This record gives sequence, structure tokens and C-alpha cells, in this order.
Amino acid sequence: MITIDGSYGEGGGQILRTALALSLVTGKPFEITKIRAGRRKPGLMQQHLTALNAARRIGDAEVDGNTIGSAAFRFIPKSVRPGSYHFSVGTAGSCTLVLQAILPALLTADGPSRIDLEGGTHNPFAPPFDFLEKAFLPLICRMGPTVSAQLGQPGFYPAGGGRFSIMIRPVKRLKRLDLLTRGAIRKRTARAIVAKLPGHIAARELKVVRESLSWPETCLQTEAVPLSRSPGNVLIIEVESEHITEVFTGFGQRGVPAERVAAGTVREVRDYLAADVPAGRHLADQLLLPLSLAGGGRFRTLKPTRHTETNAQIIQQFLDVETKMSRMKRDVWEISV
Ligand code: AMP
Repeated sequence: MITIDGSYGEGGGQILRTALALSLVTGKPFEITKIRAGRRKPGLMQQHLTALNAARRIGDAEVDGNTIGSAAFRFIPKSVRPGSYHFSVGTAGSCTLVLQAILPALLTADGPSRIDLEGGTHNPFAPPFDFLEKAFLPLICRMGPTVSAQLGQPGFYPAGGGRFSIMIRPVKRLKRLDLLTRGAIRKRTARAIVAKLPGHIAARELKVVRESLSWPETCLQTEAVPLSRSPGNVLIIEVESEHITEVFTGFGQRGVPAERVAAGTVREVRDYLAADVPAGRHLADQLLLPLSLAGGGRFRTLKPTRHTETNAQIIQQFLDVETKMSRMKRDVWEISV
């Protein structure tokens, strides 16, 4: 039985999602202790518990410790069962994070799957739906499987109520991915989305984008979400290049001026554009797992984050792979598996 220390490195939920994903793929059981010890509210929260229970159903697994607040659990999978599933977080917890735990196993399962997820779709500290759809999944498709995503309804903290579906046509084995250049930029878009909030919030965010990045008016869009359960605001900046699309997100928060939300996102976009790398910081930690399952691949990115370093360590507990992170020049790193 593999033993995972949930307080290792970054000490967050990613450790348990990566362990669940790899346990499903390899059939290797594991136990994890000190779950999310690095977080303010440690232990399993609703989103992590939903991921654990989803993995349990898909892997027909034996589980103990699957309760809210639990600091440890054991997971013993039997076999991966592709098919049609519906998982609801029950709060505004992130559905895209739930998907991180179950998607890898379904990419090489012996039949297609459809996953319907309910909860939050645009949460701080999680991949927003748009990142999943436009940045992450197209790279997964390049590795062989056909995976598409459809947004039913955006869901924001605190009420949630978001929905999306994922359709997966698997392959026997993932192909390696080499992503060293991003190529010419083809399209730039900044979308300021508001739900149950005044339109001036979106307008102020886009003004910051226009003035700081000198993007023309034609790149800027405002969207209002109808029928949202709770107020919400996100600024989504997409950079579509020849070899990759990257998505950067700012999350509106009560008490934080729209200008500050936009300035943070603009800074991320600037760093990315200046470094001339294909993968941004979040893609970097999320690509490690599929590349490891494919048995190899490499990409260029910005300085690796603690999420990236931690994920590489957890992956090595399940798979016989080595991740190398080399600095090529200022702000440019190459990660190879
Ligand atoms: P954890 O903090 O351990 O729960 O892991 C959070 C995961 O969400 C990591 O894989 C991050 O890369 C990812 N993530 C956080 N913020 C974003 C964002 N704005 N866009 C894409 N992915 C994100």
C-alpha cells in the first residue's frame, strides 16, 4: 500500500486528487494522512469528498475515512468502469477539481464516458471552466483521446448551482506531448463576466485591460449571466497562439475593487507574453500527470510553482517516471518527463 503524506510540499487538495487519479489508473491502493494540513481549514471539504466518492464509484473502490473533515483515508480500487455518471458537489465547491481526480483513468478506459458535474464552475484557486475547455482539454485531445466539454450554467461562490458535462472517447494509450514553442499569437480576448452585479464592474475591468495591455476594443467583451443563483464576477483573458491557447482568470471578490482584480490578471498575462513560453503556471502543474501517463513529453513554462514541484513528487510515488525541471534562461523553464 502506497502511503501519501498530505502535508507534503504544497499540502493542498491536489495531492489527494493526483493520488486518486493515479490509483485508479494503476490499480495501486494507497492511504493518505494529514490531508490538506497546509490549509487554513484542513481535512476533506465537500469538493474533496465529492472527488473521493466519484473515484470510488468509477473504480469500484473500497474506501474508509470518506467523511467531511477527515484527515486520512484509504482507497483500494478494483477496476475502472467507464459510463455515464452524475456527481454533485452540493456546495459551490469546484467541479473542475472533482474532474481532476477521475478524468485521467477515463482517458484510457475500455469504453466512452459522459460525466455531468454540478457545483462551482468559476472558483478562485481552481481551474475555471473556460481554462478546462480552451487550454487543458485541447492538449489532452492532442495526446489521443477525444474529450469535449459543455457548460450548462456557470456557478459561483457562495451558492454554486453551476453545471457542465464532459464527453470522453478514450484511447488505449496516451501519446507523448512536446510543447516547446507557442508560435504566433492569433487572437486575444478579454471577457468580463458578471452575474447579478452591476455592469460597471465589467466595464472597469476591461478598461484596465485596454489601458495596461493596449488591446483594441475589438478584443474586449462583456457578458451577463442569466439565472445565476448568486452574484459572481470573473475576468477571463485568452491568448490563442498557433500551438496553444492559454487562459488567465481574475475572480471578483466582495471588498476587492474591480481594478485590482483586473490588474492581477493583466500581470499574469504580461509575464506569460514576456517569457514567450507556451504553458503558463497552472497548465504546468496540470500537464505533469497526463505526460507521466503517456510515459514522456516536455514543455516550456515559467518558473515552476510549489504545486508543480509537489505534483511531480506525488506522481513518482505511483509511476516509474522522472521529472526534470531545467532553467533555460530568465523566466523560461523546460519541464520534461
Ligand atoms: P489545490 O490548491 O491543491 O487545491 O490545487 C488547485 C489546482 O487548481 C491546481 O492544479 C492549480 O493549478 C489549479 N488552478 C488554480 N487557479 C487556477 C486558475 N486561475 N486557472 C487554472 N488552474 C488553476
